[in-house]
Amino acid sequence: MATNAITAPKGIYDVDEAGAGRRRLRLERAFFDLAGQYGYPPLAFPFLEYTELFERGVGSATDIVSKEMYTFVDRGGRSLTLRPEGTAGCVRAFVEHHHEQSGLPWKAAYSGPMFRAENVQRGRYRQFFQYGIEAIGIDDPALDVEVIEFGYRFLTDLAGLGDVVIKLNTIGDTGERRAYVDELRRHIVQAVPDLGDDDRRRLDLNPLRLLDSKTPEVVGALDDGPRLQDSLADETRARFGEVCAGLDSAGIAYTLDERLVRGLDYYTATTFEYAAASLDVAQDAVGGGGHYDGLVAMVGGPDLPGIGLALGVERILLAAEAEAEGVRDEDRSGTDFVIVRAGETGDECARVLRGLRASGLRADMTYGDRSLKAQFKQADRLGAHTVVIVGERDVADGNVTVRDMISGDETTVGLTDVVGVLGSVRPR
Ligand code: AMP
Repeated sequence: MATNAITAPKGIYDVDEAGAGRRRLRLERAFFDLAGQYGYPPLAFPFLEYTELFERGVGSATDIVSKEMYTFVDRGGRSLTLRPEGTAGCVRAFVEHHHEQSGLPWKAAYSGPMFRAENVQRGRYRQFFQYGIEAIGIDDPALDVEVIEFGYRFLTDLAGLGDVVIKLNTIGDTGERRAYVDELRRHIVQAVPDLGDDDRRRLDLNPLRLLDSKTPEVVGALDDGPRLQDSLADETRARFGEVCAGLDSAGIAYTLDERLVRGLDYYTATTFEYAAASLDVAQDAVGGGGHYDGLVAMVGGPDLPGIGLALGVERILLAAEAEAEGVRDEDRSGTDFVIVRAGETGDECARVLRGLRASGLRADMTYGDRSLKAQFKQADRLGAHTVVIVGERDVADGNVTVRDMISGDETTVGLTDVVGVLGSVRPR
């Protein structure tokens, strides 16, 4: 590469190489099809939002908001942020368009890039894609079950992941957590007096995140520390019991994980994560989500609950590759028919090409002014099984030559018949 060539920013990449673009397209279609089956219509919401949405919604103390957002001031002096996740934007759209006046729950499915300034490594990028669904407006454990089941079915049936573990927890509401967090803080300060910087930050800003700590002393101290479950009200526990029972009767296995806290502040009650056994433990989450009570009101809407999930597209594809099954490349990508030009027959070439495409065939031409040999090489590269040679002499007789690229056989076909004749050639 020339030294002055411009590259994509670190952690942000193009999605065209090695068939990834096609695999993604197919996976996305499968996602929206399944979402449609579950009653979640597609929603497209902006990549850019006012920064305040994420500060209020996701929470200023979270890593995402305090360290990872791409935020800038626009020419009008407003602070804007590239969306780091989808739920806040969905909820903003729900509130702004008064969807509480439509039938509830209001449901939506989305797909698109998210942006976080993270430490880049395998499975962790600065622009990454998520598929997500949200159901807003009704508090019903059955909706939690629906969302968890949806993600599981997508990952196993459609993305083809063989080994997905659902981790499940309930983290109560803000009030319940407050009592626990005070106890937790006291316990950790006493048990681990010399906390490292990272754990100290968690302790000061968002103590619940200590449950996520990888520091052996903290992990050890948590073992005989207070349990969040003990601070939960009976009602919260009963609600969680219903979610578990719903999953049991759907035949969906899960693992209870009392230390599952997610990196976003808005969750209340049910939280869950999908882990792919084929990925490295540090980056094995292929998706997650949870129930949120206060978010809609926080964004300025009515006091309504919601539940949603987000699935990480790159991680899903990595996991599928690691399992060497799953998202198989069964789609034909190549071009079946290629038009080769011999002489001044550009108009006839264009007409035949247009006719083939209009009848639904995958057709292309070689373009440019190239030798026949170079054009055949290009047709091979494109994967053509049939080449149509449009030569001056043939055209003068009202014909073209059709070559079967596998057998090498050539036949003469009338210019006006060629689309009909080729339409009956089956792609191999
Ligand atoms: P979150 O929005 O943090 O709950 O993440 C949901 C899912 O998105 C995770 O389980 C990952 O699969 C994926 N994900 C989150 N952050 C990244 C990232 N920086 N790069 C790639 N995938 C990510």
